[in-house]
Amino acid sequence: MRVLVTGGAGFLGSHLCERLLAEGDEVLCLDNFFTGSMRNVAHLLHNPRFELVQHDIALPLRVEADEIYNLACPASPVHYQRDPVRTMKTSVLGALHVIELAMQSGAKVLQASTSEVYGDPQVHPQHEAYWGHVNPVGVRACYDEGKRCAETLLMDCRRQHGIDVKIARIFNTYGPRMHPEDGRVVSNFIVQALAGEPLTVYGDGTQTRSFCYVDDLVDALVRLMASPPDFCGPVNLGNPVEYTMLELAGQVVALCGSASPVVFRPLPGDDPARRRPDISLARAMLGWEPRMGLEEGLERTIGYFRGVERLAPGTQFASDDTACSPYACPTEVRP
Ligand code: NAD
Ligand code: UDP
Repeated sequence: MRVLVTGGAGFLGSHLCERLLAEGDEVLCLDNFFTGSMRNVAHLLHNPRFELVQHDIALPLRVEADEIYNLACPASPVHYQRDPVRTMKTSVLGALHVIELAMQSGAKVLQASTSEVYGDPQVHPQHEAYWGHVNPVGVRACYDEGKRCAETLLMDCRRQHGIDVKIARIFNTYGPRMHPEDGRVVSNFIVQALAGEPLTVYGDGTQTRSFCYVDDLVDALVRLMASPPDFCGPVNLGNPVEYTMLELAGQVVALCGSASPVVFRPLPGDDPARRRPDISLARAMLGWEPRMGLEEGLERTIGYFRGVERLAPGTQFASDDTACSPYACPTEVRP
């Protein structure tokens, strides 16, 4: 198999590339290094079945592939809100471009969608038949509506052109290779606890999330891609065990052996109050459920962060990251 992974130098993408190479596939990793890093895939470069291409998915491209995993998109609220118009272009134009590729080459497409399509959900836990509760003009809309539009495009192209598509609604996933300045809660809390700094809890910390370890999630993506053509999803992929952010903070502090206190910061706009996936469909159709509990997953992730040098804000993470990286230029992002 020749497999294209867009966003392959990011957190999830780099683990997926590794897994596909281990299965004997040829992997073409495409990334513009907006939030990803060459560092995440440097250990794969020696593999003759691995190829890395720097490209913005919002621009057309021409490559041959049997399968396409479309992961290219900043996923942390901090980064997708930094240049919201660009985020929307990445989701919508990116989906159109992978669809064009699929039509040219007959490739199967798996779209990395998100639990954010449910917005601030009024149904709990969230199942796939729920249409969601998204503020279309809020600060998260560039991401939520961009991903919803990408789902629409894929489903329309399936009906209209018979493309084999798969839609994965990914819930909060964490693990090694999250960027220390990523801004999402697990990496923030671990970096802060290891540095002995206060953990920044937004709002009162009673909001909930359900955290899936990266290896479990990658396994689900591979199973979904291999599922029969009559199954396209959308399917929820995530860990159904729910925690408040205060509970998460407590666990991280304990596992890091840290004395860090908690400080409360304002809740960002449209921050969902509760989130937990109903994964009955994934269990039934993919024979999948997560195996890694939060404690062990956090221990592995903390082990990774202990070995990662923390950088001063605005410092370039690695010399090979491009200038468009938000880590390289925190106050200005190139269009
Ligand atoms: P990430 O930010 O680490 O990875 C995203 C990758 O896409 C980065 O390497 C980035 O440089 C690249 N990228 C961004 N814009 C691009 C563009 N225009 N052209 C080419 N490459 C571009 O985030 P992640 O957590 O690895 O997320 C990967 C995918 O999974 C995203 O599509 C995200 O929406 C989805 N997802 C992730 C989670 C999660 O919890 N990790 C949850 C829901 C959905
Ligand atoms: N959060 C927090 N402190 C942080 C970062 C995030 O309390 O330093 C909260 C955030 O407000 C949200 C939850 O943690 O309620 C998950 O945030 P994240 O950015 O990881 O992902 P989201 O699920 O919001 O996309």
